[in-house]
Amino acid sequence: MLAPEIEARPRAGQLAVDDAAYRNQLAYVFERSTFYRAKLAAAGFTSAEAAGGLSSIAELPLTEKSELRASCTAENPIGAQLCATPAEIVRIYSTSGTTGTPSYIPLTAGDLENWVTASARSYAASGITAGQRIVSTYNAGPFVAGAALAAFDRIGLCHIPVGTGNTERLMQAIASLRPEAAVLTPSYAAYLVEWAAERAFDLAGSSVERVLVAGEPGGGEPAFRAKLEEGWGAKVTEAMGIGDIGVSLWGECEEQDGMHLGARGFVHAELIDPETGDAVELADGVTGELVLTHLQQRAAPLLRFRTRDHVQVRLSECSCGRTSPRVRCLGRSDDMLIVRGVNIFPSAVRDVVSAFAPRVSGHILVRPQAKGVKQEPPLPVSVELGRGVTADAELAEAIRERVRNVLVVQTRVELVPWGSLHRSEYKSKLVEY
Ligand SMILES: [Zn+2]
Repeated sequence: MLAPEIEARPRAGQLAVDDAAYRNQLAYVFERSTFYRAKLAAAGFTSAEAAGGLSSIAELPLTEKSELRASCTAENPIGAQLCATPAEIVRIYSTSGTTGTPSYIPLTAGDLENWVTASARSYAASGITAGQRIVSTYNAGPFVAGAALAAFDRIGLCHIPVGTGNTERLMQAIASLRPEAAVLTPSYAAYLVEWAAERAFDLAGSSVERVLVAGEPGGGEPAFRAKLEEGWGAKVTEAMGIGDIGVSLWGECEEQDGMHLGARGFVHAELIDPETGDAVELADGVTGELVLTHLQQRAAPLLRFRTRDHVQVRLSECSCGRTSPRVRCLGRSDDMLIVRGVNIFPSAVRDVVSAFAPRVSGHILVRPQAKGVKQEPPLPVSVELGRGVTADAELAEAIRERVRNVLVVQTRVELVPWGSLHRSEYKSKLVEY
């Protein structure tokens, strides 16, 4: 642990620390944020004292990304949540929006320091230690991933950046420089297993002992993960963040039972029912949408921000000694479909299908018949066959049956030949309308 006094602090003690930080954060926001002064006043809270502490946080309104966007003007392209003066801001990251206009994420020097600290704790949870080598495949560019890469320096690793989309360069670096760890998206990690198999490259026998996956959901799905671990001959752990709040806020430890909150003390985590917005009490095994609140942010702090990440919570004791809650990401609500009242994430379908390897390649594509979230059964799913495997009705039926049993959804499985679904060197598209 990089900070055992924080990471292993008993939960009640941490709650008291966080409650004090939250009250300070509220006071700061009331003083400096035109966005929250108006939003909280509209909800009946005219002072930090009136808003209370963490025990009453669920009474405050949720913050949607669209509200922040709507407050942007030519004079203030960051948005009305901006609290800091220009002189205080040392970094402005962007998030790539679906509308094509980027959102800007400003950070003070203190914010940036906290982001890197949290990210370093999250990545160090995987077991990588100072003196080891890590090869990274992110083109951070304008994005918050840049702060995650800074975490590798903080841990004391030798960082070998090779960037995205250059597999030859990556494999050359692995063969020549013998890094102990690699960090990449789960899709790219899966792509490389196939790439290596086609070229008789001994990936499982390479120096890489740890594969750290981040950037998209799915890296925690058991069958998919097992495939990655076998192909790489390495332990796979996940990390997760959200651009507006912080990078790699969560990181999985060697127990591989969900990601610990590495941003402990910087961020408060809640769960809500995504349909109603009602708070869901944190308990072992519960699922819901993750809602995050800054506790020490200065440039543009956010309260009760809806992340659109659906997670399952784990509160059981972890033998690594970290006491923060853990989450397993089930998927993004942007990808979620509802088939006759049942929520379904494409990465979960991929996981069920992956268990049929090597008869299937593990690549799938969900092809909804109607636009929008709500779908009528059966949900069409294309499943790619393994190399040299020919389609047979019995296999399609077995997959359909397994998906029905595990995910409680009726599908129509179409088997497609090896190589016919798109491979990604970055993030996978699992749904196509
Ligand atoms: Zn742990």
